[in-house]
Amino acid sequence: MKFSLSDEDRDLVEMIDRVAMEQFRPKAYDDRDSHRRPIENMRVLGELGVLGICLPEEVGGAGKSAISGILAIERIAHACPRTGAAAVMAIAGPGMFIARWGNEDQKARYLPPILRGEEAWSISLSEPGAGTALTDLTTRAAIDGDVCRINGAKTFCSNAGVNDHILLFCRFGPGTGGIGAVILDRDTPGLTISKPHHHMGGNIWHELFFDNATIPRENVLFEGNAFRKLMGSYSLERTAAGAWAIGVAQAAFEMACDYANERKQFGRPIAEFQLVQGRIADMCLRLEQARWLVYKACVDADGTASRLESSMAKVAATEAAVYVTDQAMQMFGATGMSQEMPLEWMYRMVRPYTVAGGTSDIHRVMIASEVLQRRFDQRVPAK
Ligand SMILES: Cc1cc2nc3c(=O)[nH]c(=O)nc-3n(C[C@H](O)[C@H](O)[C@H](O)COP(=O)(O)OP(=O)(O)OC[C@H]3O[C@@H](n4cnc5c(N)ncnc54)[C@H](O)[C@@H]3O)c2cc1C
Repeated sequence: MKFSLSDEDRDLVEMIDRVAMEQFRPKAYDDRDSHRRPIENMRVLGELGVLGICLPEEVGGAGKSAISGILAIERIAHACPRTGAAAVMAIAGPGMFIARWGNEDQKARYLPPILRGEEAWSISLSEPGAGTALTDLTTRAAIDGDVCRINGAKTFCSNAGVNDHILLFCRFGPGTGGIGAVILDRDTPGLTISKPHHHMGGNIWHELFFDNATIPRENVLFEGNAFRKLMGSYSLERTAAGAWAIGVAQAAFEMACDYANERKQFGRPIAEFQLVQGRIADMCLRLEQARWLVYKACVDADGTASRLESSMAKVAATEAAVYVTDQAMQMFGATGMSQEMPLEWMYRMVRPYTVAGGTSDIHRVMIASEVLQRRFDQRVPAK
């Protein structure tokens, strides 16, 4: 594995770290369960050119490697979990799909507001009957002259009711080959977005109902034959979610280390007890192992991370973040469980990510499949 940043890229990541710690950290743990988008922070990142960090220069990006984007997300999440989460979607979310697969008109219309930090996107894949079994999705799209009509229902779509646009995975024909994607505006006629539902940690999600929802044909990204390509681009988003989780966990780890040195019991700092030292060592080990898997998933990546490495990174990072935030709370005793501390919120923020973006279980199936070079059909065999 080759991993070196140019001096310029290193300076860029350090500058992002400095700005995030100076400007975002002071309010990072206020209004913890609010789902308000950190619009002011996103504008700052937009002005610094961070949100297009991995996009090609010809679409307004900075043309940096995937690893620069991943390092930026990690540092932003370390300073402010909520801004980090928004940065994942801006840096490695739908903008990446549009830059890679969109036509010139889509790039011109949709990329600049993402890069300025002004518009936010959701991605809608999950359906009531198609969660892990994503290729069972039934939401249909049909081309009708100059328009495309959509019918069906989606669920668990994060922030769909408050974001500006949605990248929708839908079916243009039968089988996996029939899966394509379209771009939706929130006010699309025929689209109804449910009231917000709440996941733990302040995440909100919405159901989407399509009753002949009609979009211009030019908003179609793929009329089918896109599942592999879409999942390829989604690999980087998953790796970015891993970088976010590591950033949040790093902040929890630092709080736990500081407290271990400060808090005295039996007349000495708790850091002097061997079981506490063991806890610190285990947290550090889990964080570092996961961090390097996240970096490895994007080194040598040409904008997409490999299936094996992005699955390993996602599982390792999200599970490490759950472990580290949990152990950080333990380090603080009752204080760690108090809602006056940010730790219990940080735990509740990272915990759902062992499900979001594909559960740890299905990623383990994919890892085994890649390692063994065998495809394991998860379906009941046809009789
Ligand atoms: C915080 C959060 C945000 C989300 N945001 C979005 C979003 O923005 N857009 C979107 O489209 N979706 C989103 N999701 C949904 C997410 O993608 C799905 O929850 C996930 O794909 C799992 O689907 P499911 O919940 O239907 O679980 P199911 O697929 O019903 O799985 C239930 C259980 O069975 C296990 N399981 C299923 N199949 C297998 C198998 N073959 N082998 C082993 N175990 C298996 C699963 O691992 C899980 O433990 C979000 C979820 C969360 C928690």
